[in-house]
Amino acid sequence: MERRAIAVQGVVQGVGFRPFVYALAARLKLAGFVKNCVGDLLIEVEGEAATLDDFLSELTAHPPPLARIEHLAWQSLPQEGDQQFLIHDSDSETHGAIFVSADIATCPDCLAELLDPADRRHRYPFLNCTNCGPRLTIITGAPYDRPRTTMADFPMCAACRAEYDDPGNRRFHAQPTCCPSCGPQLRVLDGQGNPISTSNPLTFFADAVRTGSIGALKGLGGYHLACDAQSPLAVDQLRKRKQRDEKPFALMVLDHVVAQKFCLVSAAERALLNSPRRPIVLLQKRFPCPIEDQVAPGNPKLGVMLPYTPVHHLLLRAVHGIPLVMTSGNRADEPIAYDDADALKRLTGIADLFLVHDRPIRVRCDDSVTRIVAGAETPVRRSRGYAPEPITLPMSCPVSIAALGGQLKGTFALGRDRHAFLSHHLGDLDHFDAYRAFVNDLSLYEELFDLNIKCLVHDLHPDYASTRLARVRSQAEGIPLVGVQHHHAHMASCMAEHGLMSPVIGVSFDGTGYGVDGAVWGGEFLVGDYVSYQRMAHLGYVGMPGGEQAIREPWRMALAHLVNAGESDGILAAHVPQPALRAARQMMERGFNTPMTSSVGRLFDAVSAIATGRTRVSFEGQAAMELEWLAGDSVSDDSYPWDMKETAAGRVIDTAPLIRAVAADRRNGHDARDISRQFHRTMADLIATVCARLRENIRVNDVVLSGGVFMNALLTRIAAQRLAEMGFSVYRHHKVPANDGGLCLGQLAIAAERLRCGSE
Ligand code: ZN
Ligand code: ZN
Ligand code: FE
Repeated sequence: MERRAIAVQGVVQGVGFRPFVYALAARLKLAGFVKNCVGDLLIEVEGEAATLDDFLSELTAHPPPLARIEHLAWQSLPQEGDQQFLIHDSDSETHGAIFVSADIATCPDCLAELLDPADRRHRYPFLNCTNCGPRLTIITGAPYDRPRTTMADFPMCAACRAEYDDPGNRRFHAQPTCCPSCGPQLRVLDGQGNPISTSNPLTFFADAVRTGSIGALKGLGGYHLACDAQSPLAVDQLRKRKQRDEKPFALMVLDHVVAQKFCLVSAAERALLNSPRRPIVLLQKRFPCPIEDQVAPGNPKLGVMLPYTPVHHLLLRAVHGIPLVMTSGNRADEPIAYDDADALKRLTGIADLFLVHDRPIRVRCDDSVTRIVAGAETPVRRSRGYAPEPITLPMSCPVSIAALGGQLKGTFALGRDRHAFLSHHLGDLDHFDAYRAFVNDLSLYEELFDLNIKCLVHDLHPDYASTRLARVRSQAEGIPLVGVQHHHAHMASCMAEHGLMSPVIGVSFDGTGYGVDGAVWGGEFLVGDYVSYQRMAHLGYVGMPGGEQAIREPWRMALAHLVNAGESDGILAAHVPQPALRAARQMMERGFNTPMTSSVGRLFDAVSAIATGRTRVSFEGQAAMELEWLAGDSVSDDSYPWDMKETAAGRVIDTAPLIRAVAADRRNGHDARDISRQFHRTMADLIATVCARLRENIRVNDVVLSGGVFMNALLTRIAAQRLAEMGFSVYRHHKVPANDGGLCLGQLAIAAERLRCGSE
């Protein structure tokens, strides 16, 4: 006979771990207890040594589906003669720290109850259990229990309470559990927000959407706008009312079988679609595709997700399985609406009717977007279903650290020990609403994870809202600051994801990032580790005539690159009025409002504008994205020429020969698709060639690919392939986005390591 104390770390709370342990101990007839303890799970069991071994191996081999065991340790204790196995209350009353799990899609057990006429929760749109349901989006404070969620105002009925208290029940300590007699209820409102009286709000709403109306639907982390994705009229209306010109809408379909009617779905993509995280998965459209082209104009991909709340499951069935556009409830570029009063105000005039309920959303959380690139998950936006699940760092944080990320794709990362808690996506911090959510949710996370921040990390850009927040808070609270260069953070983000500690070659390509010389960087080959880096090579500078305007009007970048290459602007004259061309030329000559940039994102814009004549875009990176679509999924055998010069400031890559060749191809009437395929091939060659040159001198063989340019799947795939052929170990993003949404992870790792080494 023996007693063992077992400590389990990882994602072990709010995922049904205690009932699982209870059931396992009961089956093996072991005595003792299990309890939550400051983010970990503590188990003490007593019995025969062989049975205890079985207990341990069963625990590690078949934990609950949503749990993730990162570390397990046990030690022997003196016997205490326990007679039964108990679930103890958690220690969380004294320690705030509880690992809050992400929101989890309706589990198969709950779905079965939802559809079972004999079940007391039949068709009840808010059912959930320990294995599924809302988590982050409803939490108001720590520790995670019902009074500190937006379910606080829904006292459990006797039947729900009995399940909640029963250790053998699937709803044991399921904080948001409820039923038709005690939980939230659906209501339907007209376009002005007046209640519509109906015995079945869901069917009423579904019928309207099915027959061409645009409906606003209160979801898990915010409002969605929904319409029939096969109705040209409805989709067109939605686009006009939302004032969203070309950005793609996502779809929600009943299941992966329906998704396969419109898109090609590989086994890996099917697994992602069906995963409990239920992200939007970018899938290749079938051709021809019965989905309205206006859903994702000109885009060879469709963003598709499956139902993830009971409301969605019921809705998709009530519309007879037709595919629905399911896009964030907002106008143009505003953040998604989540507060009821605000949503009604902002979506009036867009939605014909509303399907709402009385469970408030505390944390605004957009849908996550992801895709499979070369067989592996490659996130586009990490948010609902992922946040705030921790990412394990390769180093330990000596103090609690908050890294505040960038500007356009606001996210923050909090570090404690080896855990990085990354926030959900907070959007463009230029929007006051997004900024306010950033500040509020930052303090909520600090409370949830019981952190006392002793170090604030920010980008070097002085005008990022996140940088200013770090400064203000540092002043007010006397917390030390660490500034991190943008492209160094990108590189470190990919390193941290892969646990790399030795120096790497960081290929850091993006649209915009503040360089230490005041220029706009974005085509950088860095060599270094977390503590420091050297800028070994970069794209030669060209002007950005008009500054920010050059991002919205890619013809300006085309002009800058043509002038830089000694070419005339004749190619652009067909698309751009002469006075505008002349004004931009003068700006460059006088150096007025013309920041210098080494950005690869802007090079893509320029080549896209030259190859296609596209002059304006409605969102950043659109021209670059269209260039990728043109290539399809192959590159050509030929490469365009380019040059590299040794200078005192490192190697400088000269793109003038490339631009001259692209311009000549365009003049000679070459197909834009061929230009794009050859350009992609060139960029992959360029990456591989420069890395090989660097390796000759510095003997570093690990290459990380990071920055927004690597949202380009074709370039990522071909570049990784060429590097691998040359014997490099290539690392790319699988946990956080390559774009600025992943920046905070790199900032955090850099600060942690600098503090650890005493260089800050
Ligand atoms: Zn469930
Ligand atoms: Zn109830
Ligand atoms: Fe960036």
